[in-house]
Amino acid sequence: MSDATEISSLANLAPEPYRLRLPGPTAVPERVRQAIAQPVLAHRGPEFRTILVESEAMLRPVLGTKNRMLLVASTGTGMMEACLVNVLAPGERLLVVVNGQFGERFAAIGKALGVVVDTLDVPWGEAVDPAAVERRIKDKDYRAVVLVHNESSTGIVADLPGIAAVLRNRPTLLLVDSVSGVGGVEMRQDAWGVDILVSASQKALMCPPGLGIASVGEKAWEVVRREAGLPRFYFDFRRYGEEIAEGATPFTSAVTLIRGLREALGMIHEEGLDRVLARHRRLANALRAGCAAIGLPSFAKDGTLSNTVSVFKLPVGLDGGAVVRRLHEKHRTVIAGARNKLAGKVIRIGTMGHLFAGDILTDLIHLEDVLAELGHRFERGAGIAAAATALAQ
Ligand code: PLP
Repeated sequence: MSDATEISSLANLAPEPYRLRLPGPTAVPERVRQAIAQPVLAHRGPEFRTILVESEAMLRPVLGTKNRMLLVASTGTGMMEACLVNVLAPGERLLVVVNGQFGERFAAIGKALGVVVDTLDVPWGEAVDPAAVERRIKDKDYRAVVLVHNESSTGIVADLPGIAAVLRNRPTLLLVDSVSGVGGVEMRQDAWGVDILVSASQKALMCPPGLGIASVGEKAWEVVRREAGLPRFYFDFRRYGEEIAEGATPFTSAVTLIRGLREALGMIHEEGLDRVLARHRRLANALRAGCAAIGLPSFAKDGTLSNTVSVFKLPVGLDGGAVVRRLHEKHRTVIAGARNKLAGKVIRIGTMGHLFAGDILTDLIHLEDVLAELGHRFERGAGIAAAATALAQ
């Protein structure tokens, strides 16, 4: 059977609407899709300049900063690389906190760039203790400590204020990936002292993939502006900094995505940022309550659980891949498994972006159905009831 035949026959078997419930990319709301469907604008024309300036102004409070916003046509991984190439020089040393897949990726990028990478390894599902960071930075001279704010592979949030406090009066920079956090988990870049923050469009910011965001604080700019550094061209933050001051980007802007971003940010501010964050908390709590009631506890052991990505441990004998596959085949509900050492053992569900109580209840209806089909023993309806109770509070 050809791929095309498989896809069309699958569509006939599963008449339900497509439900994108990954931890990114996430479903793009109709308003944003309408904005993206508008004619492409000249990237240096007055119409687009207004959109860029407005996007920047609306993005800053979401990141909790007064920094200029550097908007780069890139995925999140490109932005992880960008923040390393802009602060490191050959032979300099980097400390990467690794407590999940994206921490591992940061370490791999650092190694690929030829800098000295030390890791602070923390068991997956746990958050790093700021005191452990403090002990490590006393040992050696680190240019930067790198950290994932919201580890999408484990569903845990880092103690950013605690770690930033450790670095505050030292030359070492704090570089943070909040690709899956910004817009759904509190971020106060300036107040906490995050030197470079990177994120991307396709998660809580409700846009399609392809737009990267970097926010560089003053302490970091001093390092970024050095001539001695790793070779860089496309990702050179200096170019983005100069151009955004003129209401532009150095290369052809991702005009369509930025138009979508402006609409998405408009929606966030209309709802109110505090309310948006509270909605994420409420929905994540409800999903966790529902899953716990049907025998799927959160994977993360301690620390702050993420309100944007929920990761659930499966009982022995239940394969995560099968759960993901059957949810898609039967209900067109698309969640994630794992593509790392947790493969088969966990499922991951996004609770971010354009999401409401009914989505969580539908997730649980579909999940209960598939778990029962796969032979998992639990009380049918218990997950939906627990989530409904949590939502009623
Ligand atoms: N960092 C985190 C925390 C992520 O969740 C992801 C994507 O899932 C990335 C980085 C990489 O982003 P991208 O897939 O857009 O390159």
